[in-house]
Amino acid sequence: MPVCRDIIKVNTVGFCSIHDITPDVSAIVDKSGIFQGICTVAVRGSTAAVSTIEYEPGLLEDIPGLMQKLIPGGIPYEHDKTWGDGNGFSHLRSFLLKTSLTVPFDHSKLDLGTWQQIILIDFDNRPRSRELVVQLVGE
Ligand code: ZN
Repeated sequence: MPVCRDIIKVNTVGFCSIHDITPDVSAIVDKSGIFQGICTVAVRGSTAAVSTIEYEPGLLEDIPGLMQKLIPGGIPYEHDKTWGDGNGFSHLRSFLLKTSLTVPFDHSKLDLGTWQQIILIDFDNRPRSRELVVQLVGE
């Protein structure tokens, strides 16, 4: 069974910064030589998430707004007592959205909608250098 594994590196500013990683993932699928299969994208860390959106300016404002309503920053969480790092809200947001995403591909092209992009969201309360593992399995 052909497999392919690669790493994407992204420098973020944290605080719900949203990054379109579709070109990077597509390039890996394209050059893999694998015709059809599944592509998993997983961020290493417990204060970030991988998902899909239509990557446009309105949603880049709406998503931080939604997160602030669901899991507000600026209030104390139990996690903050453990390490004193003040990012309990970041961990809870990551837990809710999950840290990996699987997308099928065919003809070495990701099965995404026209207005659907793969995003990394960094919820941490400081800039981070993120590594995402892209793992392909197919034939
Ligand atoms: Zn923490």
